[in-house]
Amino acid sequence: VICEGMVDRKKIPMNNDIEIVDALEKDDKIIIIDENKKEAVYKKEELLFDSCLDCIYTRPSVHDILIGTEPDNKRSELTVSIVEDFEKKSLDERWKYFQEQISKCIRCYACRQVCPNCYCKECFAEQTRPKWIGPTNNISDIMFFQIGRIFHMAGRCIDCGACTHACPMGIDLRTFTYKLVKDVKELFDYEAGLSFEDLPPLATFKPEDKQEYITEP
Ligand code: SF4
Ligand code: SF4
Ligand code: SF4
Repeated sequence: VICEGMVDRKKIPMNNDIEIVDALEKDDKIIIIDENKKEAVYKKEELLFDSCLDCIYTRPSVHDILIGTEPDNKRSELTVSIVEDFEKKSLDERWKYFQEQISKCIRCYACRQVCPNCYCKECFAEQTRPKWIGPTNNISDIMFFQIGRIFHMAGRCIDCGACTHACPMGIDLRTFTYKLVKDVKELFDYEAGLSFEDLPPLATFKPEDKQEYITEP
């Protein structure tokens, strides 16, 4: 089924004390109805998740029968520009931004639980043999978890944005995961989720793969 995007509840500019009881989709509009039966009409692109506005794969890459017509939305390039700004920062500035964001983490694991690619039977965060990280909310434990999880997404992340949507602390996880998506595409010409046959870069190798990451002892 062609995906037309999902509404980001946080983008609906309504008073939080008033409950939304219904929502309708009509052409390129979304009509929100509150408990007082008051209707508010928004353009769809005003309410969609940023990841949906950016998405270039509204058509499932693998399918038997395709249902629906493709929306003629243009990709917003929002995330691309955010990540390009991130790349312009020095390493110290990137580290500072990472620390600023991750220091808000309460280690609820919602980002991991919602991720379609975090499917390990036992996550490294809970392993006891070996024990990788402590169970505390100490910043070093939190950072170890986040660095581990984000790097585990290399060649796996499909940029669905679900981790960012699920985070109760509003942490900008997508800048980090999208940076990995971009790097994997540039370095290995690979995008996750597009083929059953192609192995992800960390599961295979080509002799011509770039090797800058290998350092002399
Ligand atoms: S954006 Fe990537 S890391 Fe986040 S939930 Fe989707 S696949 Fe997982
Ligand atoms: S964070 Fe890593 S180890 Fe844990 S479930 Fe996700 S991919 Fe698996
Ligand atoms: S969802 Fe947010 S607060 Fe929860 S563990 Fe992930 S980054 Fe931390």
